[in-house]
Amino acid sequence: MTGNSEVVVIGGGYAGVMAANRLTQRDDVTVTLINPRRTFVHRVRLHQLVGGSDDAVVDYRKVLADGVRLTVDSVTRIDAAGRQVTLASGGTLGYDYLIYAVGSGSAGRNVPGVADHAYPVATLEEAERLRQVLAAAPVSAPVTVVGAGPAGIETAAELAETGRTVTLVCGGVLNPYLHPRGRRAVAGRLAALGVTVLDGPDTLVTEVTRDTVRLADGRELPSEVTVWTAGFGVPDLAARSGLSTDALGRLRTDETLTSVDDPRIVAAGDSAAPSDLPLRMSCQAAMPLGARAADTVLSRIAGERPAPLKQGFGAQCISLGRRAGIFQFADTSDVAVGLHIPGRPGAKVKELVCRGIIRHLAEEAHTPGGYKLHRAPGTARSRQLRRAERNQAPTVKAHLNARGEQGRP
Ligand SMILES: Cc1cc2nc3c(=O)[nH]c(=O)nc-3n(C[C@H](O)[C@H](O)[C@H](O)COP(=O)(O)OP(=O)(O)OC[C@H]3O[C@@H](n4cnc5c(N)ncnc54)[C@H](O)[C@@H]3O)c2cc1C
Repeated sequence: MTGNSEVVVIGGGYAGVMAANRLTQRDDVTVTLINPRRTFVHRVRLHQLVGGSDDAVVDYRKVLADGVRLTVDSVTRIDAAGRQVTLASGGTLGYDYLIYAVGSGSAGRNVPGVADHAYPVATLEEAERLRQVLAAAPVSAPVTVVGAGPAGIETAAELAETGRTVTLVCGGVLNPYLHPRGRRAVAGRLAALGVTVLDGPDTLVTEVTRDTVRLADGRELPSEVTVWTAGFGVPDLAARSGLSTDALGRLRTDETLTSVDDPRIVAAGDSAAPSDLPLRMSCQAAMPLGARAADTVLSRIAGERPAPLKQGFGAQCISLGRRAGIFQFADTSDVAVGLHIPGRPGAKVKELVCRGIIRHLAEEAHTPGGYKLHRAPGTARSRQLRRAERNQAPTVKAHLNARGEQGRP
């Protein structure tokens, strides 16, 4: 391609900011980032906003390259054929390439009473609202946190540390991701903080009322404030725009993160479903996916073949209040192993990780192209695809067959 290329990035979270910064490597690329807020939301600290130990926002001037145009708005529709997006404020914006990085939000709002009586923490506005609700409730008021993934555990621990009476309802196993040893460590710390943990299949929540939480086994828990962290959903922008998505609504892509419908649309972060085998929805995946998405666009502009994903995981990091945490090691296929860093050292590592995220984004803003973590040896992703192929996943088979065109990892 000759001449200037217009690239529009939808979503200014971890994936979108990483992608936008990286795209500024070329002077002949104009990058516009569209995001509904003027400030960057450090989502992995939203439970801290609820507990009052951080505001979970960062000035875009700190993490966004000077060369990126920030448009504070929301995209309401993608017109792939016309290569333009429609903005909520009115008007349209044309593009040569589009990066879809709209992230995720809360899920499970279809459980009776949840939409009216429970408070999610998945977005800045939700976390701010919950903080206000808690401020208005007496410290002795029973608080129930539903969902025992990392966000639920972190929120429960944070609130218990501020003196709240907290029950954590798992709806199954306490964070299924953890290795049993790691799970024991987390359960021990939650017990020390005074959190009541209810786990097992009978603890699925069937209804939330103004002041109770009902469980599948008929138990009714008193709950003056109910926090809802059970799962993530994704915006329906791609589906509404007629693009192919997976069952959750993530944009379906190949291994170069290119939409299965359109070579000019590339996805990254929580809202991407490469080969119908999406990575764990996490900041840990979002930043490398953002870098990979930018590389795909830059390759296309340069007339080169984009490289496929080469991403492996190594850990999950959970804060357990301000004085403890756990760094759960995993193998490169993202399966937890029997090794973890608990307690205060675990908290220190978690804090370093949270700061490191902002540092990575800021470095990519100042030295675009410097980020390398998405180029780690790619055996894990290849193994994951082969395993899925053996299990007869049809889309994965198709992608593996098509890899002749995309290059082998
Ligand atoms: C309390 C909590 C704790 C967490 N802790 C961890 C953790 O410790 N480690 C970890 O790896 N992950 C953690 N996560 C998950 C992590 O935050 C997400 O996986 C991550 O934010 C995904 O990054 P992203 O860039 O894909 O999306 P996001 O960070 O969600 O960014 C997407 C952006 O797109 C914007 N957007 C959405 N729709 C539109 C539109 N139509 N037009 C324009 N912009 C739009 C959104 O407003 C947002 O700014 C946590 C999440 C929560 C809620």
